[in-house]
Amino acid sequence: MGKTEVQKDTYLVGLGVSPGIGIGRICLLNRLSMVAEWRIDEEEIESEILRFRQALTEAAVQLREVKQNVSRQPHLREHIYILDTHLLILEDELLTERTETLIRQGTNAESALNQTLKQLRVMFENIEDEYLRERSSDLDAVGQRLQRILAGVNDTTLEQIEEKSLVAAHDLSPADTMQLDKGKVVGFLTDRGGKTSHTAILARSLGIPAVVGLESATAVVDNAMPAIIDGTTGVVVLNPSEETFREYLKRKLAFEYLEKELTSYRDLPAETSDHVEVALRANLELLSEVPAALDDGAVGIGLYRTEFLYMNRSEPPCEDEQFTAYSKIVKKIAPHPVTIRTLDAGGDKFIPDVSLENEDNPAMGLRAIRFSLREVDLFKVQLRAILRASAVGQVRIMFPMISGVAEIRTCNRILRAVKTELEQEGIPFDPQVKVGIMIETPSAVMIAPLLAREVDFFSIGTNDLIQYCLAVDRGNEHVAYLYEPLHPAILRALKQVCDAAHDAEIEVSMCGEMASEPLYVLVLLGLGLNELSMNHACIPRVKRVLRNLTRTAGDEMLGHLLQLSTGKEISTYIEREMRRRLPELFGEFVI
Ligand code: PEP
Ligand code: MG
Repeated sequence: MGKTEVQKDTYLVGLGVSPGIGIGRICLLNRLSMVAEWRIDEEEIESEILRFRQALTEAAVQLREVKQNVSRQPHLREHIYILDTHLLILEDELLTERTETLIRQGTNAESALNQTLKQLRVMFENIEDEYLRERSSDLDAVGQRLQRILAGVNDTTLEQIEEKSLVAAHDLSPADTMQLDKGKVVGFLTDRGGKTSHTAILARSLGIPAVVGLESATAVVDNAMPAIIDGTTGVVVLNPSEETFREYLKRKLAFEYLEKELTSYRDLPAETSDHVEVALRANLELLSEVPAALDDGAVGIGLYRTEFLYMNRSEPPCEDEQFTAYSKIVKKIAPHPVTIRTLDAGGDKFIPDVSLENEDNPAMGLRAIRFSLREVDLFKVQLRAILRASAVGQVRIMFPMISGVAEIRTCNRILRAVKTELEQEGIPFDPQVKVGIMIETPSAVMIAPLLAREVDFFSIGTNDLIQYCLAVDRGNEHVAYLYEPLHPAILRALKQVCDAAHDAEIEVSMCGEMASEPLYVLVLLGLGLNELSMNHACIPRVKRVLRNLTRTAGDEMLGHLLQLSTGKEISTYIEREMRRRLPELFGEFVI
């Protein structure tokens, strides 16, 4: 079926989740939108069930093949667990039994499967947790694979991709994303997806520009249509005019030039022109990101989000598995420190073998440190593994979402007990291991001077701090306009935390997304932050800006900003000021 003509320079806006510009032709990945439906007779039931089971077997064979291909590519090995998730979905009784029941009631396999998937999707979509909700895309991917097999459609689309393709899909599954050939695919765009989806995570680790969350792009685009995607701003241009094409080509060249030029910053010190040093560290989700983090000049890991180790599996990782993962990172990052954050799970949801009730308000419920303090055995296993890794190199332990002094004292008591156990067992660890907390709740801001007496360092988690201070759900698009990092309340909160840390002479860093924004560097300098942790790809940009500024200018600017009344006034002032100071960096192109 043809699509309506798309006019020249048709702009779509989604979520830019992997930076860079891709210019090419659309390659629309096959998606079966219509599922055939017919009634089957009593005597056809067994053969229909057999057909469904054969499709399950064939899907498993295909997935194992993909897994084998992926395991030959070292940078992708880390993601094999996603394929394992898909294999597990194939075996899930909810999926197989419901489908077979419907077939027994006289529905053909395709339609029975479709109905089952719909029911399961509703179950997923009602899950409060954003990360798990996004796992419904894994279910969709498995469903699509089964439907293709049932319909006899070969799953060869990925191999058929031509040079300079911009892959468009309703939802690109992580399994598909892993197979994308970077030599041919210059970017991808999807209707679905959020910033924390596996697909977005993988796009960043693969370095492929990507725009997700476009809602209905695949209804508009067609195969071979010329298009441009800007993974930095989230803009997609369909059928670009000559002028737009030239404009984006210019931007692409500028982006690539900047990328190349930025590699020259890798070995330069991260210090201001008035010689204030700032440690630029990387946030890490996956072990596979370590080489890229080092390439980008990260001096250590400021936040290792360990919850990724616990996801998509039926059992939490045991002490040895955790120790192996942590010590691998620690060795690779040596001599720099690795800050390992203890499990920041949202309730029981990431850990299937511990059953906890559904919560009405999970963001304020049993998450992060609250969960660890309830599941003390699990917490101790993690602390043992982290402590053991501290014998291998420089490790720092960080507790998430602390809201009061009692919590940190309990954590420290448990940590002491674990240290004693290890001592008694003759297992080595660093007895001086530094212990810090994330500052992400308003109460932690208010009592920062009290908390500072209990710990070695603070790390400000602005992603959560902003949501809790401004009472704005960080994942809710309806209130996204209120999610303002430069809200006067946030600037004051940041100042209070930094002042408390400096007064107590403890280290203070920032590891929320705010730390990675080049535009904010002067403000962060003014706050006296001496450590920033961010997605590794952002480090060279932040370093470049940092090296062209002075701490004194930061002090002056912050003083002025604190007198302004709205987030808009503050951001306008900062933009103007940064453009005035560094026109070559904040002029024509967004960096
Ligand atoms: C934060 O809240 O700023 C943070 C770094 O933690 P996460 O994004 O993992 O919640
Ligand atoms: Mg957080």
